[in-house]
Amino acid sequence: MYTYESLLAAITPTSGETREVRDPATDELIGTAPVQTVEELEAAIDRAAAAQKSWAALPDAERVAYLHKAADAIKENAEALAELLSREQGKPLNGPNARFEVGGSEVWTRAAADTPLPVEVIVDDETGRAEMHYRPIGVVGAISPWNWPMMISIWQIAPSLRMGNTVVIKPAETTTLSVLALVHVINEVLPEGVLNLVAGKGSVVGAALTRSPKIGKIMFTGSTPVGKGIIEASADNVTRLTLELGGNDAGIVLPDVDPAAIAEGLFWGGFINTGQTCAALKRLYVHDDVYDDVVKHLVEFAKNVPMGVGLDENNVLGPLQNPAQFKVVDELVKAAKDSGATIALGGDPDYDAPGNFYPTTIVTDIDPHNPLVIEEQFGPALPIIRYSDLDEVIELANELEVGLGSSVWSSDRSKALDVAARLEAGTTWINSHGGLHPMVPFGGAKQSGYGREFGVEGLKAVSVPHVISG
Ligand code: NAD
Repeated sequence: MYTYESLLAAITPTSGETREVRDPATDELIGTAPVQTVEELEAAIDRAAAAQKSWAALPDAERVAYLHKAADAIKENAEALAELLSREQGKPLNGPNARFEVGGSEVWTRAAADTPLPVEVIVDDETGRAEMHYRPIGVVGAISPWNWPMMISIWQIAPSLRMGNTVVIKPAETTTLSVLALVHVINEVLPEGVLNLVAGKGSVVGAALTRSPKIGKIMFTGSTPVGKGIIEASADNVTRLTLELGGNDAGIVLPDVDPAAIAEGLFWGGFINTGQTCAALKRLYVHDDVYDDVVKHLVEFAKNVPMGVGLDENNVLGPLQNPAQFKVVDELVKAAKDSGATIALGGDPDYDAPGNFYPTTIVTDIDPHNPLVIEEQFGPALPIIRYSDLDEVIELANELEVGLGSSVWSSDRSKALDVAARLEAGTTWINSHGGLHPMVPFGGAKQSGYGREFGVEGLKAVSVPHVISG
């Protein structure tokens, strides 16, 4: 079992180019991460390709057993992993943060192991018999982002391994150590070459991974512009893709809600992981009848949620993970302020304090086309837009190019379902926002991407359907 110190020591590079890793809450130097080359990537792809045939040849039950051993290894080392994640990503240990993310990584690994995917008999009658088998693709290239670095990496790795693929993963530059540590712990129980990590620049090793003819499928989670580049890169080799891209999720609050009762759900829908969540509530449309009350209760709730250094057990909100993201949020809130919107909470970062802390911010009386509304802020700044006409608000919710998640808030389920049916998104939650389940398919509509992760759909996405007919 590792401690934080022994885990960090085990993954610290001893040669090659490195980059400094600083705690986003304190600016303190916590370690160094490797910056690897395309040659190192190619060697990793070759290792994965060499290991793939014997991994695929194992009976399914053996791969399932390996995945459970991997989940056990995550569980045994959960505290060390959570501390490293907290220090590198910034998210606090408690709340829906670092310990939660490590726990989720274990749970999703077990779910990928335990989901049955038997041969499907499609036709079996006087016209003949046709069966659908799901074969491995080969080597899967995984590219993950910095907001939920461990859990999203697991979403890519675990189903791929279960289906008999081997994996080369490239973590985000600013959360390399978290994924390196996770992979290190898992690799202590997996056969050699099955799971490989190459750390480096997205534009260099990430791009080379997406162009490699030896990669059969790319699992990508990140921004829409990078996703579009990956679609182009996939053309030469007809590389299969699952793309989980950016979002700008709308929530619609109907006039029949109890504002006090929904305040906590609205808060966590928008501010989970300090807003740095793909399917977080990023623009909230509230009916005129309840607007002032919803704002009042949400602000009341939000101002008591502690933000601070991740290792302090009291905190449940952290800093932004990197200075670039701080700048995005800061500029969007400044533009909203300049446009005459009201800052109901926050909006006043301490630029001299250490770390990338941006305070919990709620912006009201804002134009529906203000940049804070129509651009993905990916941080703790929620715009609340007033509406009075349901058709108009549905149009506003649907007018963007992205469509990852969405939510409807109402005390009348059938009314909420009617609105949900009209929203363009991969998921619509009723009276909550952003909750995920390992058996429920997750993915985007429109430019939020294509393909689905989790459950049976997720296993099918990392395999080649093969019909045996006759
Ligand atoms: P990003 O697109 O900048 O980076 C994601 C990953 O892609 C990183 O590992 C990066 O190194 C790599 N990369 C960068 N350029 C590349 C290239 N040319 N070729 C190949 N790989 C390259 O995204 P980010 O800033 O790390 O993450 C934030 C974004 O991710 C937000 O838009 C958010 O909505 C989105 N996101 C989506 C989901 C989802 O499930 N849909 C989940 C989390 C985050």
